[in-house]
Amino acid sequence: MVNKDRARTPLNPDRLKLFKADLHIHTVLSGCAEIEMIPSLILWQAEKKGLNLIAITDHNACHNAEAVIEAAVGTNIHVFPGMELQSKEEVHLLCLFDTVASCKKCQEKVFQKLPSLTNKEDLFGPQYVVNAAGEWLWTEERLLAQSADMTLEEMVDQVASLGGLAIPAHVDRTSYSLLSNLGLVPPTLDVSALEVTPYFDPRKGFLEWPELREWCLIVNGDAHRLNEIQDRTLLKMSHPEIKEIILAFKGQEGRQVLVEWPKP
Ligand SMILES: [Zn+2]
Ligand SMILES: [Zn+2]
Repeated sequence: MVNKDRARTPLNPDRLKLFKADLHIHTVLSGCAEIEMIPSLILWQAEKKGLNLIAITDHNACHNAEAVIEAAVGTNIHVFPGMELQSKEEVHLLCLFDTVASCKKCQEKVFQKLPSLTNKEDLFGPQYVVNAAGEWLWTEERLLAQSADMTLEEMVDQVASLGGLAIPAHVDRTSYSLLSNLGLVPPTLDVSALEVTPYFDPRKGFLEWPELREWCLIVNGDAHRLNEIQDRTLLKMSHPEIKEIILAFKGQEGRQVLVEWPKP
């Protein structure tokens, strides 16, 4: 007879591992990123920082995610494909997926709502697509860093419907963020964590935005150059999968988020 209770028993917390993560990294596909943001160098820097979990999150597109995943084969680093979406309200929203296929489906939906403007390289920088070796394949001509005609809530729903995880980005930033553009975290927004910048100090930040005390906060680098990659967020979980990260964000079944805040 099958022991159904055993199937529901949470994993022994002793078997959980700590994953050092930076879940917001740009590549040369983002016009604003430096030319050094190619797969091998991103992984080299991540390894140097002791990371074992990263996410590739270019503006509204994921053309380079697969190349970084391929380059990471044989390393100890798990790479999530993702994007940094920009909503109608000009709020940035990270989205991460377990598979490149789901991430691409989300990109297709967003592209349908993205104005068809051509990138101006001299103003916004080139948007390069590269292979795992960092060699140039083609250049995305469509301007990626702009708002899609979708509300933030619509984006969160879209990401969830494809099995992804949405995280409002750099909420303490003075532009393109929840707090700067909307003034608050909408109570109906269905997310389980918020990203803050490496400059966020809870001693000051919680005075300015007391509502942030109620949230699970993570620190990412929003790296546009190698030395901006951060190593301050630890996720305690069983393995790198979106549903495990959500459990960690919610502090359920022994999973948790540990952040190293600036020392006084
Ligand atoms: Zn951003
Ligand atoms: Zn970013």
